[in-house]
Amino acid sequence: MSWNIVGHEWAVDQLRRSILAGSDAHAYIFSGSPGLGKAALALHVAMALNCERGIGDPCQECRACRRIVRGSHPDVRIAGMASQAAAIKADEAARQKELKIATIREWQHDISLRPYEGRRRVLILHDAERLNEESSNAMLKTLEEPPDYATIILVANSTDLLPTIVSRCRVLRLRPLPRRQVVEALVARNIVATDAELLAAWSGGRVGWALAAAAQPEVIAARQEQLSALVELGGHSHNRGTAFRWAEQRAKEYRGGEQEVVFAWLDLWQGWWRDVLLVAAGCPESVINIDRRDDLAHEAARLRIPVIHAFVGRIGTATQQLRENGNPQLVLENLLLHMPTV
Ligand SMILES: [Zn+2]
Repeated sequence: MSWNIVGHEWAVDQLRRSILAGSDAHAYIFSGSPGLGKAALALHVAMALNCERGIGDPCQECRACRRIVRGSHPDVRIAGMASQAAAIKADEAARQKELKIATIREWQHDISLRPYEGRRRVLILHDAERLNEESSNAMLKTLEEPPDYATIILVANSTDLLPTIVSRCRVLRLRPLPRRQVVEALVARNIVATDAELLAAWSGGRVGWALAAAAQPEVIAARQEQLSALVELGGHSHNRGTAFRWAEQRAKEYRGGEQEVVFAWLDLWQGWWRDVLLVAAGCPESVINIDRRDDLAHEAARLRIPVIHAFVGRIGTATQQLRENGNPQLVLENLLLHMPTV
């Protein structure tokens, strides 16, 4: 098997067999949390269908395979929030939450034309969970009668898609990989073992995230900095000033269009408290923040399990309230007021 994909063996096997047998679907949904490797899988399907050296097992070397990876193959069209954002100003792009109908129309515009160079025309749409009603309906028309030389792949970060769309697609739900498998993939790419262990633990099995982070040291540094700030908030729970300044800054980011940045903070914080809970419950081997075991043990020792558990839940609730358009400053301040104290 020449698919250069880490993990998801069942998905690769299923896709490869059906492509070889000519029983591949005209429309797929690859779903799962961000960073699992869905985009890489979609590109491999495009390569497996269009490789110049034969169908089913992409060689990754021919002109077609290389152009697909570079995003310059004329028969493979890719769109998503990133391509939509590229056409507008950054601050405006940050505020966009949905895939607009214009993006969908542009993406599917020449689906009715036969492939120029390859065997099949492959249309990949990222962030498909962000289709709004109008763009979903535009999508449905294409899914109802796809030309027989076209393959549509919807890549979604959740399963939150219209049932009418889901029912017209073959759905592959990708899951996080075992931590060990992510470590091995990183070490195979010459990442130092200690870094590989850390990134794999942080990734929560999202190998795509781990590989991307390994290539960007600044991502790792920023994460460490954020985590230190969060741990400090807990350490100085008596110091309301620091905590409220933090809430104020996040609320400002949120209102300025950087909602995802704020969600990432909350995600990081929830991961931290989940670790504290794991240590308190006697399962330290499962923690994500393996480089901060001392801090975790310190927190776990000073707090009771129900208190820690309740705060993990509160961070989830705050995230939910923000998603439901709660006032960011109020939601975050309320969360800070309930930070566990001894
Ligand atoms: Zn090839």
